[in-house]
Amino acid sequence: MATSARDRTSEHRKGSPDGPVHPLHARLQAVHHDLSGDTGGELRSSIPLLAEADPDLFGLALTTADGQVHQVGDSGHRFTVQSVVKPFVYALALADAGPEAVMAAVGVEPTGEPFNALVLEAETGRPPNPMVNAGAILTACLVDGETAAARKDRIRSGLSAFAGRDLDDDEQVSESEKGAGARNRALSWLMKDNGTLPYDVEDALDVYVFACSLLVDARDLSVMGATLAAGGRNPVTGEQVVDAELVPTVLSVMGTCGMYDGAGGWFVKVGLPAKSGVAGGMVAVQPGQLALGTYSPPLDEHGNSVRGFKACTRLSEELGMHEFRPGGRGLPVTVRLDGPDARSSAGRTSEEEDVLAAHCSRLHLVRLQGPLTLLTADSACTALLEAAKGWEAPHWLTVDLSPIGWLHPPAVDLLQEAVDSLVDSDVHVRLVDRVRENRRPWEGATPDDTLDDLDAALRSAEDELLARLG
Ligand code: GLN
Repeated sequence: MATSARDRTSEHRKGSPDGPVHPLHARLQAVHHDLSGDTGGELRSSIPLLAEADPDLFGLALTTADGQVHQVGDSGHRFTVQSVVKPFVYALALADAGPEAVMAAVGVEPTGEPFNALVLEAETGRPPNPMVNAGAILTACLVDGETAAARKDRIRSGLSAFAGRDLDDDEQVSESEKGAGARNRALSWLMKDNGTLPYDVEDALDVYVFACSLLVDARDLSVMGATLAAGGRNPVTGEQVVDAELVPTVLSVMGTCGMYDGAGGWFVKVGLPAKSGVAGGMVAVQPGQLALGTYSPPLDEHGNSVRGFKACTRLSEELGMHEFRPGGRGLPVTVRLDGPDARSSAGRTSEEEDVLAAHCSRLHLVRLQGPLTLLTADSACTALLEAAKGWEAPHWLTVDLSPIGWLHPPAVDLLQEAVDSLVDSDVHVRLVDRVRENRRPWEGATPDDTLDDLDAALRSAEDELLARLG
């Protein structure tokens, strides 16, 4: 009988001499244990030196969008990032040159071809997307820097910011790649010939090969991926590496093109934007949640790490990470308090108390909990509008958004519009959000006129009631 994920995990937890194990760490351990003996794949590469890697090395890491890192196996073993660098260089190019210039130079269509195919867009001659070599060679020319050396500096510092530590490069691997780089050179000259690579070919190759030779480990890849998961903000260092607005473009291209001719099969199985590299590294991102970083050198026929693919598949299944899985967004909890339960702590004179007691039913407090998504905003708007229907004007309603951990900005707009329509029927609404300062930018913002203090909002509602009805 097959063991369930739960059985496998608890087996590992029981065996630990170090006491209690974090359940996500236990998941990684179980996957690492089960795949360690998998000898599938080959050390086969366009870069001769990479074929000398130790096929048994196997590291797994997971970093959450709020910066918790879990890692097992050879997660600290350094290897060259190779093509896993491509989405991050693309992000830097979008940031430096702007989306319009980058989109004009490089397409966003998947090719269904291998990473180094001699394929350019038929009509424009542009590289089809930034995840295949042609696109990545061009993308690396679009980051800030007048010279090849300056662009290398920009790529090293940008990638270091994604990883949260200073990255070195491996000159031996870049030399090995340069010695065997006929195909990348051919691709570059094709683009040079049709006018889509308006740069010096040797400089362009030099920068691209340098980017591929940066040394990372599985932990770094998970932190780099988590930076995308967290809207461009490195959740370990707190640095905003690229603007949150650019991240959906990067993840979309990873989702559609990141796994080359294996992209469709990958997405059906794992359901996450991802990128692999020929040294055996892989990163997979669950937007808003976490990222996986894996390292295992043997590759499948598409150039993707065999154990990396299997580890991501299993973790995605066990943790329900597939992006198109319905029902993963959570439901709202709307708590409504009326009358005495919606009073502030302010001391009142006995006259004021009498007025407030007589009109207590005109005071309301609604607290929204859970993520504010389109779904929850719809149900919150319905709740507010339904509740207000039976009210005889005037009423005072305080809406507390503080318990909401995640705000989808357009959902906030819907809520604001519902609130605005209540004002027309003499319902006086105050929005309170005590945690907006702590909430990170990618989680959206509440309207400018939102108050910071719940008790003060309740008190000002009472003051208004007293002034009007007292
Ligand atoms: N530097 C490698 C190359 O151009 C990167 C390829 C890859 O990792 N898929 O061949």
